[in-house]
Amino acid sequence: MINSNQFRHNAHQFVDWMADYLEQVENLPVKSLAKPGEIFEQIPGNPPAETEKIEDIFEDFKKMILPGMTHWQSPNFFAYFPANSSYPSVLAEMLTATMGAQCMIWATSPAAAELEEKTMNWLRSMIGLPQYFTGVIQDTASTATLTALLTARERASNFEINNKGFQNQKFRIYCSSETHSSIEKGVKIAGFGKENLVKVDVDEFYRLDTDKLEMAIQEDIQKGFNPLCVIATLGTTGSTAIDPIKEIAEITLKYKIWLHVDAAFAGSALILDEYRWMINGVEAVDSFVFNPHKWMFTNFDLSAYFVIDKEALIKTFSINPEYLKTNNEGAVNDYRDWGVPLGRRFRALKLWFVIRNFGTNGLKAKIRDHIHFASWLEKEIDKHPNFEIITPRTLNLVCFRYKPANIKDENLLNELNQLLLYRVNETGKVYMSHTKLSEKFTLRMVIGQTNVTEQHVNNAWKLIQQFAEELS
Ligand SMILES: *Cc1c(COP(=O)(O)O)cnc(C)c1O
Repeated sequence: MINSNQFRHNAHQFVDWMADYLEQVENLPVKSLAKPGEIFEQIPGNPPAETEKIEDIFEDFKKMILPGMTHWQSPNFFAYFPANSSYPSVLAEMLTATMGAQCMIWATSPAAAELEEKTMNWLRSMIGLPQYFTGVIQDTASTATLTALLTARERASNFEINNKGFQNQKFRIYCSSETHSSIEKGVKIAGFGKENLVKVDVDEFYRLDTDKLEMAIQEDIQKGFNPLCVIATLGTTGSTAIDPIKEIAEITLKYKIWLHVDAAFAGSALILDEYRWMINGVEAVDSFVFNPHKWMFTNFDLSAYFVIDKEALIKTFSINPEYLKTNNEGAVNDYRDWGVPLGRRFRALKLWFVIRNFGTNGLKAKIRDHIHFASWLEKEIDKHPNFEIITPRTLNLVCFRYKPANIKDENLLNELNQLLLYRVNETGKVYMSHTKLSEKFTLRMVIGQTNVTEQHVNNAWKLIQQFAEELS
């Protein structure tokens, strides 16, 4: 085992490596080219009985692990949604790991609880939520949505399901056919049953169709179901469609249904005044989640969950065994009662570093840049005779496909685009992903990595055109 002096020495080495890595990451193959089992086979079957030197482990990290990593912090990463990071975030994460505090209740680290409360207040005002929302950090949006479903369930059953289990309640949950898979997962875990998740059709822009939502609710009421919760998405995964919160809220108010907003990715754009329209109607929302760990330069994981009815949340999750009783109950926030896990990392620290070091203006400038680059790319694609935009861009995601004029067959176009995606990603110079929109194999390019520039986007676009030409 190493001692303090060696730790100091290794840590300095590592920081040099970290700085070099981040400077040079764009030259590495962005998507790992490892084959299944390739890394596994290099690791010995048994753990070492005796100490091994940090230097040796570090060498193996570089030799065996790094080639199996996809470089999410590369500015050539345009796939899925980003999970971006930044210098202030990494620096704070080093402090968090070093202190290794368990921040389950206020008493186990008062600063963690109080900084969490303050940074959530900051975020609330940065994204324009009304003051009567209260924030809490969750690990992921999936957990936050599960938390919303459980709270809605408990409030509607007068907190009886927590005690007795389900007593023939026939709850129904509603979302659009474009919502994230985490909603279905949450519905299953919360005990509602997947069959009670109603996936409502979307309109031509992939937004939840509110007429169809109301029809589905009325039909369910007639059949004796109890409509419990609607989940609206602000920024769908396929195409960043924005469900119309205001119209949905009119329906949920009318039928007294919990309204949860999943803004996991797109929520970061709310710090820009010009995108505040996305939360028109938010006053009537019961809960809201977005992920600073996606597009706010705060490394994974940190999901911000906001609720109006804080008491219902705490009543759903609180536990109070003897060994956790303290004198401060009620006067302070014991966050173990605000969600699923008991144990909690000190996550607020990195968010505090990020917001302070960027400043809200710095954050706004970055997000605006990303949207601007995406807008440039959209225009380029639109101008090109052999490419088409599949659905108009909302933020920084461009959905498009290769469509040479002489090819009309939809199946062939799907195959061509699948092949194009594979070829482009295989170069290691760019990493994109895909989705299906109206049965069309759609290429997705998200421009949200912390250090992405117009040059990276331009290079990626050139590469795509070049490979497309080679295909035909
Ligand atoms: C990414 C995403 C999720 C899942 O987020 P996690 O934090 O990974 O659970 C859910 N919904 C939407 C709309 C997303 O973009």
